[in-house]
Amino acid sequence: MQESLMMILTPKRRIDILRDVVDAQKQKRPYVITFCGVNGVGKSTNLAKVAYWLAGNDLRVLIAGCDTFRAGAIEQLRTHVHHLNNIYNTNDNIMVELYERGYGKDAAGIAMEAINYGKDKKFDIVLVDTAGRMQDNEPLMTALAKLIHVNNPDLVLFVGEALVGNEAVDQIKKFNQALIDNAKLQASPRIIDGIVLTKFDTIDDKVGAAISMTYTTDKPIVFVGTGQQYQDLKVINAESVTELLLK
Ligand code: GDP
Repeated sequence: MQESLMMILTPKRRIDILRDVVDAQKQKRPYVITFCGVNGVGKSTNLAKVAYWLAGNDLRVLIAGCDTFRAGAIEQLRTHVHHLNNIYNTNDNIMVELYERGYGKDAAGIAMEAINYGKDKKFDIVLVDTAGRMQDNEPLMTALAKLIHVNNPDLVLFVGEALVGNEAVDQIKKFNQALIDNAKLQASPRIIDGIVLTKFDTIDDKVGAAISMTYTTDKPIVFVGTGQQYQDLKVINAESVTELLLK
């Protein structure tokens, strides 16, 4: 049992963002990560934690405010950018910047502008925040698929909360399916590449969502959110999750 659980939680394909950023730098373009998920799971907070981690690795981060839907989403990102720059800024080097065009506009177009801006201004990474959406809301899922297919990011991360167990599995399955369904005639449609499992600090030993999400999608958990501070972002520890399950 222990071996099987360890196998499920150990990704077949490891995602090494820092290494892949170096490859993108060689191509003189930013590495692009898109975050998607339903509302309230911790998308923006964990995007900010990823920005904190990247800036801590001396990488310049552009955050693309593509949640053009929820009032306050852009302001929330602006606050994070302000905090992060207070932590990291040197005199003449802004480490984290926000690219936004307000609300009500086409998110796919803004993401594209942001990526081009990031390339011009020599940012190392563009983190694309998207509007939260329920997995059954077809028009919004189509819009997300458009954003992803038009911009072809290097990495598509699904943000799901550990708290909701099987509901998170349903979400990720339907997000994946929507990306496939809306890919039109593309030979190999982009799907979700990895998972950010948030609120891991709130679930005690109920770690089943971690197993179910990786098992059903065969995608690795790239980050685990373990609190509300920027430092609260970890990689999953397969051994301790397995131990908790078998306790
Ligand atoms: P979004 O709507 O998906 O962008 O969600 P937010 O980023 O606004 O987060 C929703 C709430 O969850 C906020 O109060 C966050 O502080 C909280 N949150 C996010 N990640 C974590 C986490 O890993 N642990 C805990 N305990 N709270 C979190």
